[in-house]
Amino acid sequence: MTDYDVVIIGGGHAGCEAALACARMGVKTIMFVMNLDSIAMMPCNPNIGGTSKGHLVREIDALGGEMAKNIDKTFIQSRMLNTGKGPAVHSLRAQADKAAYATEMLKTLQSEPNLSLRQSEVTDISVQNGELKGVFTRSGAFTPCKAAVICVGTYMRSRCLCGDVITDVGPNGLKNAKRLSESFAKLDVSMMRFKTGTPARIDGATIDRSKMQIQPGDEVITPFSFDTDASGAQRVQVPCYLTYTNERTHRIIRQNLSRSPIYSNIIEGTGARYCPSIEDKIVRFADKDRHQVFIEPEGENTTEMYVSGMSTSMPEDVQEAMYRTVPGLENCRLTRNGYAIEYDCIDATQLTLSLEFKHIKGLFSAGQFNGSSGYEEAAAQGLVAGINAALFALKKPAMTIDRSEGYIGVLIDDLTAKGSDEPYRMMTSRAEYRLLLRQDNADLRLMPKGYAAGLVPKDRFERFEAKRESIEREIKRVGQVMATPEANAFLRSQNSAELNSGVPLRDLIKRPELDYLKLAPIDRNRPKITRDVAEQVNVRIKFEGYIKRQTEQVERFKRLEDKKLPENIDYSTISGLRIEARQKLSAAMPANIGRASRITGVSPSDTAVLLAYIKKARVQS
Ligand SMILES: Cc1cc2nc3c(=O)[nH]c(=O)nc-3n(C[C@H](O)[C@H](O)[C@H](O)COP(=O)(O)OP(=O)(O)OC[C@H]3O[C@@H](n4cnc5c(N)ncnc54)[C@H](O)[C@@H]3O)c2cc1C
Repeated sequence: MTDYDVVIIGGGHAGCEAALACARMGVKTIMFVMNLDSIAMMPCNPNIGGTSKGHLVREIDALGGEMAKNIDKTFIQSRMLNTGKGPAVHSLRAQADKAAYATEMLKTLQSEPNLSLRQSEVTDISVQNGELKGVFTRSGAFTPCKAAVICVGTYMRSRCLCGDVITDVGPNGLKNAKRLSESFAKLDVSMMRFKTGTPARIDGATIDRSKMQIQPGDEVITPFSFDTDASGAQRVQVPCYLTYTNERTHRIIRQNLSRSPIYSNIIEGTGARYCPSIEDKIVRFADKDRHQVFIEPEGENTTEMYVSGMSTSMPEDVQEAMYRTVPGLENCRLTRNGYAIEYDCIDATQLTLSLEFKHIKGLFSAGQFNGSSGYEEAAAQGLVAGINAALFALKKPAMTIDRSEGYIGVLIDDLTAKGSDEPYRMMTSRAEYRLLLRQDNADLRLMPKGYAAGLVPKDRFERFEAKRESIEREIKRVGQVMATPEANAFLRSQNSAELNSGVPLRDLIKRPELDYLKLAPIDRNRPKITRDVAEQVNVRIKFEGYIKRQTEQVERFKRLEDKKLPENIDYSTISGLRIEARQKLSAAMPANIGRASRITGVSPSDTAVLLAYIKKARVQS
């Protein structure tokens, strides 16, 4: 049996990123997957990105991951969302050709020299004295390794529910994985039961597009990857359509609620509040007379359409009836039923910030199995866990990302410090430093980390450094170039106040009615710079005040993160701490005061007690 440094269990969005990261960092890697034909499968919505998820994809790209490049090659529609709002919430969202996305990712995996793919179910994990030794597969074969990343998604003891029809399978009818859950029980890993759901798919040849609002892509396409040439990304796009449910839809659902596995308590798993089924929407938002429904193409070479906004596990006959009440879908033919899936996952507070199990050295975990939901959340964790599994195998220090550095930092900190009692979905509101964590500057925030970890290649990093220097140079230049009253005719044409004397160009950029690009006509010696650089110059100058204030908040945050807590601290002996805080702190053993303060059940007064405690301990030592 060939020796591998790292084993990746799973070929979903987490597994693909983890495997590529390890192989590209030079460690010998094998990926085990239940079915090689399901690699990078999108069992639910046919899109990548969207509010906050688009940020994650950009950050994955900045660290050297693959998702951004893969969607840039396989998207069929692209839109920049929230452009009417501030840059902190601008988010790219692309419709993917699902089949092409999976094929392209498989091609990339198969072309990676240090990576082997193997169709086989991992059934057991071998651990001795708290250290990983290797994994067993269903054939009984043992694969020794230095590190492993578990990326098993929604397959663990999963079952699918459509009305009272319950099938013991994984997503899309694929085989589920049972035995590994028993192995985790033996390893003292605490598990949870979550659920998620998906809508029916319908035949696009049977819908009436004239009864729905067309949703075209952007005229000028912005790629996800900082490495994708924008001029080469422009292409003919496929539209989506917007329609709505109505009272007839709602009545059918209300009349059949008792047949829903959710409302008849057949389903045991906990679902995501922020990803409700249509049944949930009818019950929770009973006052609403209609809900948005987006009809999205699943690909260019299929007529199947995804009915976004109507995820359901109602019985088949109810689905047939309810979808046909929606304008445009009156004669639609279902190609696949909607269904709910419940599955085992772990409580991620058992993991460190590097996504390694606290009590099993060398064993890492990522993706939906950590209690998150979404392709982007999974890929982000897969990348971080993959990088750290490789660093572990190379005996190098782990790479971590904190809440002030990226949405990936927010995602992992929330999951590992607070845990989640439902599938965790990323949202901009979760990121307190979101003005700094924009999707447009993900490379400036994270590419140095990806390079230091050994994943971002040297030539790419040099291109990045050149971009960074060009931004700083241009910000400096517009601070020195003076705009004079000679520009008043231009300013009048922009409905902007005239100048009485010379002001630095940057002061004009700050005016709400002006921006860096608009001022080009009066900025004669402007150097030729890329759209990316121009965007950075504009945002950094326009939002300078907000950015400064948020940077000060981050400095305060970092001061608390730097206040380390001893590994062997005994919280039960610290007087002044509340009982709940003692229990939670002892269970989590946080690395520093900052993380301690974010644990659910630790109050600000408990944090103050801890601060006083470590100060006293330092004075006495
Ligand atoms: C029905 C359904 C509805 C969903 N709805 C939503 C939604 O509305 N919104 C949303 O954000 N997300 C949704 N998702 C979630 C989304 O699909 C996942 O977030 C994403 O696919 C998770 O990626 P992952 O890599 O963690 O796991 P997955 O994509 O599930 O991949 C897991 C991989 O592990 C492999 N595997 C599992 N067990 C073993 C084993 N023992 N040995 C070897 N290989 C193994 C599988 O073959 C597979 O390749 C839904 C998923 C499903 C199934």
